[in-house]
Amino acid sequence: MPKFLNVLICFSNVALLVIFFGPSALWASPGESWPVALHNAMQRTADVEWRLRQAAGNMCSGTDAATGLVMDSLDAYGAGDRSMVVETLGMSDLAQVAGVAKGSPAARAGIVPGDALIAIQGRNIGSEDNYPGTTLAVRVQAALAALPAGQPVSITLRRGAAPITVSLTPARLCAAHIFVTTENRLNAYTDGSNIAIPARMVDFTRSDDELAVLAGHELGHIIARDEQTSNIAKRRRIEDRADATGSDLASCASYDTRSAAAFWRRLEKTQPLRFLAIRMQSTGKVRAQNVRDRPIPTQCPITGIPALRK
Ligand SMILES: [Zn+2]
Repeated sequence: MPKFLNVLICFSNVALLVIFFGPSALWASPGESWPVALHNAMQRTADVEWRLRQAAGNMCSGTDAATGLVMDSLDAYGAGDRSMVVETLGMSDLAQVAGVAKGSPAARAGIVPGDALIAIQGRNIGSEDNYPGTTLAVRVQAALAALPAGQPVSITLRRGAAPITVSLTPARLCAAHIFVTTENRLNAYTDGSNIAIPARMVDFTRSDDELAVLAGHELGHIIARDEQTSNIAKRRRIEDRADATGSDLASCASYDTRSAAAFWRRLEKTQPLRFLAIRMQSTGKVRAQNVRDRPIPTQCPITGIPALRK
């Protein structure tokens, strides 16, 4: 498929369970190392994910334990980058906290980015291989998501020399997780339960309001259980509905959707060959206007999604 079509597509059947970070410094500011830029993006998505999952209420097909932690690990990086990652991020063989959502159980427990995770409920994560083929960070995130919600759990961390143990109580929220990738493209997509957003795209958003409208669109697909279709007219209606649901989710999560609406126009302008592509979505102008015109939901968390327009 030509590359210019790719940027218009936001479904993927590719399972996102394994995210590896290839070297790609294109989104990092001059003088900033790309792993640092990557972790900045992961902190922003941690905040947005936490708030959107709350805004989704009971609308997702699955729920899991939410701590507000986003993890990283050395085995997610290419062998040639690992010594640099150890140097710049201080990462060890343990999984490292890359993001802590503001207001989340992990934040209230005092966990901060850079902490290394030793054990969950006294059990070391890493030696076991319950999730073959994945990275340590993904295994730790899966173990965190599988914790009992509503009950205190103990997390043992290394910060500096001495291990510390904190207690936190995970919330039970919509089972949707944002993964930051190092793909060199401006798009976002979902496999039906996970959302992938390249760090370059996170950086392209000018505010967390814009990031929430983008991630909310993908969460809208997850909530609606949308599937791929070759019917272009139907696909556009599906995309319009994901925009509407995403706007509702972002509004319920207290993001300013009116200021974020222009994002869709700005994104479209990055696609110079868009006039040649089969248009799967409304124009950026229409998408921005739809978000701007959408009233703030009367009920939060959301309790429904719009019907597909005829
Ligand atoms: Zn979409």
